Amino acid sequence: MTQKTDYIVRATAAGGQIRAFAATTRGLVEEARGRHGTSPVATAALGRLLTAGVMMGSMMKNDTDVLTLQISGDGPLGGITVTADSQGNVKGYVQDPDVMLPPKNGKLDVGGAVGIGLLTVIKDMGLKEPYSGQTILVTSEIAEDLTYYFANSEQVPSSVGLGVLMEKDNTVKCAGGFIVQLMPFAEERVISRLEENVGKITSVTKLLEEGYTPQRLLEELTEGLDLEITDTMPARFYCNCSKERVERAVASIGEKDIREMIGEGKDIEVKCHFCNTAYTYSVEELKSILERSRK
Ligand SMILES: [Zn+2]
Repeated sequence: MTQKTDYIVRATAAGGQIRAFAATTRGLVEEARGRHGTSPVATAALGRLLTAGVMMGSMMKNDTDVLTLQISGDGPLGGITVTADSQGNVKGYVQDPDVMLPPKNGKLDVGGAVGIGLLTVIKDMGLKEPYSGQTILVTSEIAEDLTYYFANSEQVPSSVGLGVLMEKDNTVKCAGGFIVQLMPFAEERVISRLEENVGKITSVTKLLEEGYTPQRLLEELTEGLDLEITDTMPARFYCNCSKERVERAVASIGEKDIREMIGEGKDIEVKCHFCNTAYTYSVEELKSILERSRK
């Protein structure tokens, strides 16, 4: 399963009154599905947030900036966490990857899996305090929730469309989406034309299935508004974990528990939440983790 075909297109329209992003993400969503063994509805939920995350990550300016999107709901999925950087790298996981729900109106019931809850957006841009915004979930279908977040938390009128379509064998057939945003100085004419264009797009999933590229999506969204593609960047599922990084998580579980594990005399296996890579720590390694954490 190659991720190489995934990319983000960044653009402006109407002479800078609109900024727009679109992405095709089948490869990275399939990578996430494979790593976490997510059910179809969990894949759709995670895939939508990964797609939004990789586009929102590309809005940040510095190489070291980190965006985190968290959805916590009272549905059986439990929650979704996605982290992205500004260079097209994204990773994420759901709390319960096995969730199965009957379809709703012939579609995967993402809203039912997520339930009622909150969306949290954290941007760590190397400042003393990371930026953090939180809004309620309005539909729990993710795209609408992000639209609501942009309007209410960032005061940027936006339209977000996200789609993940599964094959019959439960692999990912296509995935992608868009974010279009109005700048504060946007003219009435531009606003109403954009609204009209957005209104014509009823299903992102359907367009992706028809073979729409990110460019084509943006062309439809900005029809009559002079689209200007700024750049195209590759996108991928990527986790920067290592045995050393995961070791810090092991150290944080506390002296008592580590002693207990040492007492049992067996190797322990710890998995990275984000990518599900397993790291094994021997009793000797646990002892040195304990020693280092006491310093
Ligand atoms: Zn990892």
